[in-house]
Amino acid sequence: MTERAALVTGGASGIGRATVALLRERGWSVVVADLNRATGTAAAEELGASFSVVDVSSEDDVAGAVARCVDEFGRIDAVVNNAGVGGAFGSLTEIDVDEWDWTFAVLVRSVFLGIKHGARAMRAAGNGGAIVNTASVAAKSGGAGPQAYSAAKAAVLNLTRSAAEELAADRIRVNAVCPGLIVTPLAVDGAAAQEKAAAVMARRQPWPDMGRPEDVAEAIGFLVSDGARFVTGEEITVDGGLTAAGPRMH
Ligand code: NAD
Repeated sequence: MTERAALVTGGASGIGRATVALLRERGWSVVVADLNRATGTAAAEELGASFSVVDVSSEDDVAGAVARCVDEFGRIDAVVNNAGVGGAFGSLTEIDVDEWDWTFAVLVRSVFLGIKHGARAMRAAGNGGAIVNTASVAAKSGGAGPQAYSAAKAAVLNLTRSAAEELAADRIRVNAVCPGLIVTPLAVDGAAAQEKAAAVMARRQPWPDMGRPEDVAEAIGFLVSDGARFVTGEEITVDGGLTAAGPRMH
């Protein structure tokens, strides 16, 4: 039996992968749960984690990944509900209902399922635990274009608060992170996109550097640690001051 074990969804890439790396460095055992078998297997091999092919919108898949963590490591101390997609994009007058529902299934149903099955297993073991949900700065504002995404991420924040209240008696803490623009395949695919994003961020984001997956992983690492013993129902924004800044006139 190992000291600590975690399930990280979307652990094959970006923020999830950086979180797996950080937890492994800190001695955690980790199950990487991801839809992408190729990148998931490679990440797990490189980082010394286990891999499970999971569609986070499927209850059977998420329940299976939680069971895998308990079977393999004898425990589950943390669930990081992080997998995500950009989702339906475009005008609200045009978005297809199936695309809208798929966006909410991958971004919100997934978090509900991770909480449901993760907390069941933690409650059964009686050792408490920590759940961290990856929301976004998009949860805090609207924005024409990714409307389904920002509505779904806002739902993730309130689900985090509700779950924190319900599960506190079991010593299960539930928190969220709100990344700003982080250089990952989801947000910035390729060098040209990165250059364009850097130019936009130079106008809007006070901090001069682009956000890295590791910056968000550090916040997740704190939230699952014993140091966060009294922190629940909260969100940590990791955005280089983007949401704190006023209008930039210069
Ligand atoms: P990424 O594309 O690098 O990683 C996302 C991972 O999720 C991929 O490995 C992908 O295969 C996996 N995934 C997608 N759909 C899945 C499904 N149905 N089941 C299981 N796995 C699935 O992206 P990232 O930027 O690291 O995103 C991680 C999280 O951070 C997402 O929830 C995203 O919305 C959020 N986020 C990202 C940014 C950013 O700027 N990158 C900003 C705010 C929030």
